[in-house]
Amino acid sequence: MQTNLAKKIKQTGHAEAIESILRKCVHCGFCNATCPTYQLLGDELDGPRGRIYQMKQYFEGEPANPEMLRHLDRCLTCRACETTCPSGVNYSHLLEIGRESIERELPRPWWDRAQRWAIVRFINSGWLFAMSVRSGQLLAPLLPGKLGQSIPLRQTPIPRALATHERKMLMLAGCVQPTLAPNTNNHAVNLLDKLGVEVIEAGAGLCCGAAAMHTSNSQYGMAQIRRLIDSWWPHIEAGAEAIVVTATGCGTSVRDFGRLLEQDPEYAQKAAKVSSLYRDLLEVVEDEADRIESPAPRYRRVAVHTPCSMQHGLGINGRVERLLARAGYEICRVEDAHLCCGSAGTYSMLQPALAARLHDNKIAALSVEQPDVIVTANIGCQLHLAQGSQVPVLHWIELL
Ligand code: SF4
Ligand code: SF4
Repeated sequence: MQTNLAKKIKQTGHAEAIESILRKCVHCGFCNATCPTYQLLGDELDGPRGRIYQMKQYFEGEPANPEMLRHLDRCLTCRACETTCPSGVNYSHLLEIGRESIERELPRPWWDRAQRWAIVRFINSGWLFAMSVRSGQLLAPLLPGKLGQSIPLRQTPIPRALATHERKMLMLAGCVQPTLAPNTNNHAVNLLDKLGVEVIEAGAGLCCGAAAMHTSNSQYGMAQIRRLIDSWWPHIEAGAEAIVVTATGCGTSVRDFGRLLEQDPEYAQKAAKVSSLYRDLLEVVEDEADRIESPAPRYRRVAVHTPCSMQHGLGINGRVERLLARAGYEICRVEDAHLCCGSAGTYSMLQPALAARLHDNKIAALSVEQPDVIVTANIGCQLHLAQGSQVPVLHWIELL
């Protein structure tokens, strides 16, 4: 695609990236076929090709307008379009630049900004978030229908192994996971302990910055990333061999720290090191799969929901299924596995109507062979899918 960037864009540090991404797009439209919002809404402007075209118009000088932002806001950033694109267009990077530039030129209404600010601050508020969740869980049985179901059930934390080992790995605790699903990391710590790895959870409560980045608040997100790097750095210098992440949404963020901070003279090197040490829990467990004893299965038939961050972001697809099949589980067929469940970071809060449609479609797609349990690899998907699900929704590590 030919480009002719406007002066205002040429003066930003993004011109080179924008041009190289736009030039790769040949406008073929293959990406529309796998885009969840295009499938739901049937509007070219709500598909990747149309969104790229709208951003191109803006980058070439058309003034920002609310319509443009509305179509960009409806994007889940699921990256299914990137997996499909034969030309290797880095759509998500273009979207990150486009959203932030358009918002700077055309600020959102105050209530929209306030909602975004409140969501990010609330999920990063530590004790306030934990207390609110606990209160909600106590009151849930008294709340009507869907409201009561929207509050995740309380998990009773299992004890953690405390042994020390020569092999040490850092683990991202996460901002909401320790409150909402503490046993994901507890199971991960215990399994890694059995494999001779000691887990260090430095920076408890610190966020990977993904929620802030999703709401175009990159300054706040970058500050969160720097804090996280500071908390990990002494352990990296002491020889931690990897940074394990149990939520794939956070994993894509950690893997991207190096790119996000490449212009920061103080943090560029450290961020690149952190990204190079990043590993998804699945990759660590797979390496040691021969040493894992098959557990007595709690469930027999399993449907696996592979988060978009895992299949389109990290490019790890079909491997949870292989690991669980090897451990004796029967894997159920899932239809349209490439489509997003609607959770997508803060999307389910900001676009509830579309997210609810995607949720219902996904539950139907996961239920075609009537599984006993649904497993996934990302806390956001886990909580979103569990709302109104007839079968439990767990992180896959809980089955090992
Ligand atoms: S992003 Fe890729 S698949 Fe979509 S229109 Fe452009 S080249 Fe084609
Ligand atoms: S990221 Fe997902 S929702 Fe957004 S355009 Fe690509 S496929 Fe569609």
